[in-house]
Amino acid sequence: MGRIVVLDQNMVNMIAAGEVIERPASVVKELMENSIDAGATKIAVAVEDGGRKLISVADNGSGMDAEDVDMAFEPHTTSKIRTSADLHNISTLGFRGEALASIASVAQVRAVSRTQDSAGANCIEIDCGDKAAVGPASGDYGTTIQVRDIFYKLPGRRKFLRTANTEMGHIAEQFTRISLSCCSVQPPTLQNEKQNPDITTASLDLTLVHNGKELYRLPVGQTLAERINALFPMLSDGASNDFIEARSSERGLHIYALLGKPAISRTSNKFQYIFLNGRFIRDKFISHAIREAYRGLLEPNRFGVVFLFITMPFEDYDVNVHPTKSEVRFYNANLVHSQILGAIREKLLGTNLETHARLPVAAGSLAVEGPPLAGHRTQEISDAMADFFKKHRQSHTQRQFGFRGGPHWGTDRHAASSTMVCEPPAPAIPAIPTTPKTFIQIHDSFIVAQTDDGFVIIDQHALHERIMYEELQKRIRNGKLESQRLLIPQSFDLTEAQAGLIEENADLTEKLGIELVPFGPRAMAIQAFPSLLAKAEPLDFVRDLIDLLDRKDTGPDPETLLDDVLNMAACKAAIKAGQKLTDSEMEQLLTRRQSTDSASRCPHGRPTTIRFTLKDLEKQFKRT
Ligand code: ADP
Ligand code: MG
Repeated sequence: MGRIVVLDQNMVNMIAAGEVIERPASVVKELMENSIDAGATKIAVAVEDGGRKLISVADNGSGMDAEDVDMAFEPHTTSKIRTSADLHNISTLGFRGEALASIASVAQVRAVSRTQDSAGANCIEIDCGDKAAVGPASGDYGTTIQVRDIFYKLPGRRKFLRTANTEMGHIAEQFTRISLSCCSVQPPTLQNEKQNPDITTASLDLTLVHNGKELYRLPVGQTLAERINALFPMLSDGASNDFIEARSSERGLHIYALLGKPAISRTSNKFQYIFLNGRFIRDKFISHAIREAYRGLLEPNRFGVVFLFITMPFEDYDVNVHPTKSEVRFYNANLVHSQILGAIREKLLGTNLETHARLPVAAGSLAVEGPPLAGHRTQEISDAMADFFKKHRQSHTQRQFGFRGGPHWGTDRHAASSTMVCEPPAPAIPAIPTTPKTFIQIHDSFIVAQTDDGFVIIDQHALHERIMYEELQKRIRNGKLESQRLLIPQSFDLTEAQAGLIEENADLTEKLGIELVPFGPRAMAIQAFPSLLAKAEPLDFVRDLIDLLDRKDTGPDPETLLDDVLNMAACKAAIKAGQKLTDSEMEQLLTRRQSTDSASRCPHGRPTTIRFTLKDLEKQFKRT
């Protein structure tokens, strides 16, 4: 006798449910998406015990008649597509026709629905796939679906549910994604391709209630920024000026984004919300583009907060690659990547990202006499500085740097000729006047300078490091670094493997202007070294360079490797903290700052400048 049998339909549904319905939050997602597809303008979600006891989603959408209420819970039933051609043009959130059947196969479900032209509502109950007949019920226009005791007949799966709090966290996350997704982006009309896509206000009224307590009430008509503030009170102190707007529109691909300034960056990319034609998606190409766009503006391991809305023709991507449709396949992923990267990067570089000092609110007169203004902030900065210098081994002997016209300073003839070629647009950082002299150096580490509307504190190392970094980048882009022969070649020992690394990366050392020659067995000598880095110790530099080459993760990507090398070079060649500067050296630093692209952040993403306004001071001294 054959051992192979056809599974009964309920088993098939339960297996499908394993893919689509992972936990209560998946039910919330599927039901809310159905409500949106039904044209609802109002959705009320109520949950008990983290969704384990009850999930109820009520909408004011188109509703279903008696026949459809019955059909909706059959597997592979959908009103959203008819032919395979429709699959390439999906504008709805659902289309697989498996959500309701899956949910009903693993829980007790009651659905009540009423269309505009029916006299009353209809109701159906299903208990883990056991369907009762449709009957009349009382109910408003729209649909209410209640899902009780999820997985109660599947102890194996029920056991995997976490605490009510954890499950509720997942539900709130799904709710958040959907409430942002309906801040719809209006793509430009065909007649006017050039017109920018724009964010309209939220088109959905949404509430989320847990155990009788209202967690969110998001009215229709909220702007995106208002909705973000309501959903993420921890992101900013209610100030929408923590975000920068970016737009771009090219070849049918429209982008609108709210970009969090570096000051509100996070330790994970959880606060990067990407929506494609109203659908929340996760996409590694896009995440990569965002990371690249923030490169150098954030400290390593920090992530920008980004709300990104993409509008593009449905036929340019496939949503049918993942059971919950949270991943898509772009037919031209490179275009998507480069447009997003370009739009975000350009905007970030063109914006003044200086850290604005957040002064503590002086609660009483005692606060004024207490620790210095912005005490905790200053402490944070000096801690970060200390940490930074610990990591970047400072040379023990504090060398003096030949500022006055020294080639490394970047104001010499060569620099001028190579930087004139394609100077990018100057960023929007307010200039710091240098005449008459209104700046001083404090603690041999910081420059305090008066500005038109207050004063700034500049971290001399961080700023010079950024200037050096950009200078190095420009020169490398235009060819190789100019080198200088050492009077006495400096030799060093190395292993076979290290010699191999140097050989493999001969291009890179040549670009950097470092000339290395064999010097007996297992030894090499440095014969020439870049003049721009004249003040760095050649041996120390080459050793660190070999370490960088040896790092497996940078091996395959020459761009990243070069960037890391330039970072290291900038750090080594920059003036250090603890180094006394003359007035003219400070003046040069302040002047150079004006023509440096991202002068507000060091290459590691730390701020170079902290700005205080007169208004801040007046507030502190209680003048206002
Ligand atoms: P899909 O959304 O993929 O079509 P579902 O199983 O989620 O599949 O839903 C099946 C069908 O039930 C939908 O196509 C739709 O016609 C109908 N339906 C589901 N929920 C609602 C609702 N809230 N209001 C109106 N119709 C609904
Ligand atoms: Mg659906």
